[in-house]
Amino acid sequence: MKMIKILKGASLFDGTGKDLIEDSILIIDEKGRILDVGDSKAINILQYKNTEIFDLTGKYLLPGLIDAHVHIGYHGLHNTYDENFFDDKLRAIRAVKEMENTINAGFTTVRNCGSVNQLDFFVKESVEKGYINGPRILTSGKILSITCSGTDYFKGLYRIADGYDQFKKAAREQLEMGADILKVMATGAVMNPGGVPGAEQPDLKELQAVVEEGRKLGKRVAAHAHGNVGIKNAIKAGVATIEHGSFADDDTIEMMIDNNIYLITTLIVGHLLLIHGEENGIPEFMLNKQKELRSLRLNTIKKAVEKGVKITMGSDAGVSPYNYHGKNACEMVCYVNEGLMNPKDAVISATKIAAEACGLDKELGTLEKGKVADLIVLDADPFENIETLIDSNNVKIVMKEGQILKNINK
Ligand SMILES: [Zn+2]
Repeated sequence: MKMIKILKGASLFDGTGKDLIEDSILIIDEKGRILDVGDSKAINILQYKNTEIFDLTGKYLLPGLIDAHVHIGYHGLHNTYDENFFDDKLRAIRAVKEMENTINAGFTTVRNCGSVNQLDFFVKESVEKGYINGPRILTSGKILSITCSGTDYFKGLYRIADGYDQFKKAAREQLEMGADILKVMATGAVMNPGGVPGAEQPDLKELQAVVEEGRKLGKRVAAHAHGNVGIKNAIKAGVATIEHGSFADDDTIEMMIDNNIYLITTLIVGHLLLIHGEENGIPEFMLNKQKELRSLRLNTIKKAVEKGVKITMGSDAGVSPYNYHGKNACEMVCYVNEGLMNPKDAVISATKIAAEACGLDKELGTLEKGKVADLIVLDADPFENIETLIDSNNVKIVMKEGQILKNINK
């Protein structure tokens, strides 16, 4: 029998930016929606019958975390080229464990930004059918890219298209399989040897083809873009999010703000490459590109934060070395440790802002009356020490749509 859940006593951060409620009550109805939330003095819990009560005194209650940029099916191998030697069946089995790690770490939603051989559709289905425990998954299928150097480094990841018509067809193929978003390479990449990160790739018309196809079905487009021309083309075409944004100058940053663009940072990628280095198997080409890029990327993001771009948490989990599914919160730690944000804003980038970027903010991202009850309960105060978010043992309870997916609260 389904019951009303009452979570009481936790310090609650609702994700809107308001101060913590020190002694809170949060009530979840039988359908998994938030019936009421607020200070314990303001809510009479005795009015509810058929309840299950969770005493969370001394704990921290937050909205479920959202990672707006992951790669399901990739495993964070130190030599990324070795990802090619896994059979899809093995990739799928590993993805089961990785989605479990992700949900256990408090991430209740992930937006996939490209999967080899469209594995993400099947992983999503297995979560939805209850075969495996995992986050809500927004799928993209393959990444749309022009014919260019570097794309064969990740075999099966890209759907190559050239010209307006081919981009339409490529987008339609992903949508046919059930893509929730479309991912397009607007510039070259850091993570493959031939990619020139600053270089513009599709023409404006080609990018428009992708956005047009997405719009027909109400689906957003995520554009991988490092250089200014590529970023601007993507924005002109009508994408919703810019992934990486490394070289964005003042003019481009202004354009992001004017067009309500969400900038997905993936800063942890470079950090992990540089701390592990060549001695731990990082490919030389990748390290060299990253050394050039690191301080520039940090400066760009810093400027974007200061000017008010909506910075959105995205880790690139899976596709870069040592970047593991389940350790997604490292990105938020990066924000704080690099002096870009305070811990509260880092959490907001992975809750409220990330929900907006994914188009899910009507239902998710904050703990407010009427919203879907995706939430996490933590032992340690993440605002005191953001690094505690990395340790999934600190995540005591995870609920998705009011359903308990993890409970190690003793
Ligand atoms: Zn990526």
